[in-house]
Amino acid sequence: MGLKEKLDAALRRQALLGAAVEGLVWDQEVMMPKAGALHRAQVIGELSALHHQNLTQQVLPLVREALATPHILTPSEKAQLEILLQEAEPIEKIPTELVRRFSEEASQAQIVWAEARARSDFATFAPHLEKLVQLSREKAQYLGYEEEPYEALLRLYERSLRPRAVEALFAEIKDFLIQTIQACQEVPLAAQELPTLRMPAADQRQLVEEVLTHIGWRPETNRLDLSAHPFCSGLSPKDVRLTIRIDEEDLFMALGSGMHEMGHALYEMGLPEEPLGWPITTAASLSIHESQSRFWENHIGNSLAFWKFMYEKVLPAYKPAWLSDYTPFTLAQRANLVRPSLIRIQSDEVSYHLHILLRFELERALINGALSVQDLPAAWNEKVQVYLGLQPPSDAVGVLQDIHWSMGSFGYFPTYSLGSLYAAQFAAAIEREYPDYMVHVAEGHFETPLGWLRKNIHAYGHTLTSEALCAEATGEPLSARYFQAYIREKVTQLYEGAVALPA
Ligand code: MG
Repeated sequence: MGLKEKLDAALRRQALLGAAVEGLVWDQEVMMPKAGALHRAQVIGELSALHHQNLTQQVLPLVREALATPHILTPSEKAQLEILLQEAEPIEKIPTELVRRFSEEASQAQIVWAEARARSDFATFAPHLEKLVQLSREKAQYLGYEEEPYEALLRLYERSLRPRAVEALFAEIKDFLIQTIQACQEVPLAAQELPTLRMPAADQRQLVEEVLTHIGWRPETNRLDLSAHPFCSGLSPKDVRLTIRIDEEDLFMALGSGMHEMGHALYEMGLPEEPLGWPITTAASLSIHESQSRFWENHIGNSLAFWKFMYEKVLPAYKPAWLSDYTPFTLAQRANLVRPSLIRIQSDEVSYHLHILLRFELERALINGALSVQDLPAAWNEKVQVYLGLQPPSDAVGVLQDIHWSMGSFGYFPTYSLGSLYAAQFAAAIEREYPDYMVHVAEGHFETPLGWLRKNIHAYGHTLTSEALCAEATGEPLSARYFQAYIREKVTQLYEGAVALPA
């Protein structure tokens, strides 16, 4: 076997092992009987170790060898291998044994977290979180950093990102967000007083599947299930599964989570299938992944055009009692009410980023050793008060609400805010190219934005960094001004100009 064939085989094996883990994690969250947890943690730990071993012992030496023999590579292959090397080098520094321990601890912690959240019992979860913080700090030592341990973890998700850059980014939008929330809360909207969007769970599930089918969901390639924390698993472009969360009192929960995860799913479905394991078949980054979910959830799913489509073509068949109280405009108003919530995933697009800011500050302090796990719930509650003006009545709707820390995913949260900024910049680029695409959305046609994303984002896989992909797709590097302009325009439209927005 020549070098190129060996490399192809090693990359293929890497992708297949990754898909195996992905499938087992999906099963754990959706199907597995509770008592299987310990065994499953061991299976995933074993496979994760193999995955890591294959990367460090097979893939990376072959990548280095191939890059030293450039005549066997096309320019695109060479660029892809350079990116792969850059991304994988930090991971290579973590001993396989630590990867295995981390994976096992995280699998168990997730199970404990789900029960602790149900009972609002932080104390049972605390020792598991403590362990994950310790292991993460250990990981940061292997990875190395310039300024603080948290930096090493953040850069696992976004190579070029530093904590200080995230801090600066938030500094740019923080006051705008806080002032916009305050200004919106002074304006009472009629939609606020209308009935809640109550609907039986079975109807909601069917409705979400129907809406997603308009966008590209297919039973041959997709699944839709329920889970406590909605997520999307892409095993291959032809096997992409999403989960939603249903609240019978509030259709927005199921629909919002469905549109969000569908954005992730469309990205996975739009990635090139071959050559398996090469960067072109994988996502560019978590931030870019999140830009896809944010685009479909917010720019499409929360738009007036979308609610026109819902009102005219989808909702009537389900005969909800509240439909006659609403118009497309008041539905869109209600979908976009700027009103801080205790729960991140129920938050409006303005207060959402303050949720991220507080998590960023807390996890940074945890990892850097400035905050203990024991003091975390109190620190959480204090920040929620300062940023959102709310007081969590229990840890279930406070510090225990998110799955991320139970997975040991420290450094992940900031990618959500970056995703929103990218989404707004992509939406602006789509609108420049297709000024009337929302007219088609109002009729239930989503091909125009999907086509743009397929061509300008999905088809590239991970052949470029997030920054380069953004510049290539939109003509300029990431800028927060598109997000601010989008929020301004939306608030002005839905609050009918009655909100005094900050300058
Ligand atoms: Mg997401």
